[in-house]
Amino acid sequence: MGKDYYSLLGISRGASQEDIKKAYRKMAVKYHPDKNPGNKEAEEKFKEVSEAYSVLSDEKKKSLYDQFGEAGLKGGAAGSGGFSDFGFDLSDALRTFMNGFGGFGGFDDFFGGSSAGGSRRGPQRGGNLKIKVKLTLEEISTGVEKKIRIKRMDKCDKCNGTGTEPGTQLKTCPACHGNGEIRHISRSFFGQVVNVQQCSTCHGEGKIPEKACLKCGGTGRINESKLVSIKVPAGVATGNYITLRGEGNIGLRGAPYGDLIVLFEEKEHPFFTRNDNDIYIDMHISPAEAALGTEVKVDTLTGAVKMVIPPGTQPGKLLRMKNKGLSDPHNGHKGDQIVRIRVDIPTKLKGKLNKLYTELLKEEKAANILGERFTKIE
Ligand SMILES: [Zn+2]
Ligand SMILES: [Zn+2]
Repeated sequence: MGKDYYSLLGISRGASQEDIKKAYRKMAVKYHPDKNPGNKEAEEKFKEVSEAYSVLSDEKKKSLYDQFGEAGLKGGAAGSGGFSDFGFDLSDALRTFMNGFGGFGGFDDFFGGSSAGGSRRGPQRGGNLKIKVKLTLEEISTGVEKKIRIKRMDKCDKCNGTGTEPGTQLKTCPACHGNGEIRHISRSFFGQVVNVQQCSTCHGEGKIPEKACLKCGGTGRINESKLVSIKVPAGVATGNYITLRGEGNIGLRGAPYGDLIVLFEEKEHPFFTRNDNDIYIDMHISPAEAALGTEVKVDTLTGAVKMVIPPGTQPGKLLRMKNKGLSDPHNGHKGDQIVRIRVDIPTKLKGKLNKLYTELLKEEKAANILGERFTKIE
């Protein structure tokens, strides 16, 4: 029978894409590993709901699943080899979450600020690192790959991360007698309270080097710098982030790496202003251009584009350039570029222009084209 993706997400078979997304978002945020460090059960659940979402959010996979169940995805019922090795691991789950919206939902929205930063309270994993990447609007518009040098704790090459001086062994930790934890028993109003803490001498491992590695002092790790490549998806905004699994600090004595959290920050653009996926810009034209209409070139994030200013265009008029904004990182929908018209009145008229304006004014008076001169302020 296989897994019931619908019941995993707590929705019915007739659920709309919007409902599916909403249900997944709720569950994924609840069980996200960043929110449940070291909790295997939550991680399992996170993987399950992500797998369910990855299938149900994809119309093609969904219809295979609806018809043939899980077997439809595995057996290549539609001759699609892509599904044949359908195994879903944590990195797939994280990618699903990121692609769905999660990674872009805003770091602080999901995890309440600094909770995912700093070192994890887990038995051994290395600490997370957090870096900020500044992006221009042009880079955001196309997406970009950034190579950034980070400083992190990496495996000591002398002892290969073990922390022991080559040629020597590990010994039982004298502080915890190899238990890896230390129990404090205290009495309280409620009776005896046992407080178990990780042993700080061996960091919970129960063993320490007989002779500490001279290069790393027995920690098994040294400061290194590493060039990481960060694929920035198009359309991200300040506060969005991605998590690169295993790119943080290595744990003590060969324990797993923590994560690298990459926070995006948008640089101020000299003339474009962003509002969600729309881009705003002011364009200055002359009174004659406004009255007679004209064709102009307008800069967009992806190059200059021709635009028609219709005759009789008023100051403040918003002209919309369809799909010239940023693409939404969640669904790929394109925003627009919106051009606000400013009409610049000439301040220093000379020569022929002065003559023409004088003549124009005379004509205007004669034709009384201004109509109603006073109206109520709106
Ligand atoms: Zn110990
Ligand atoms: Zn070492």
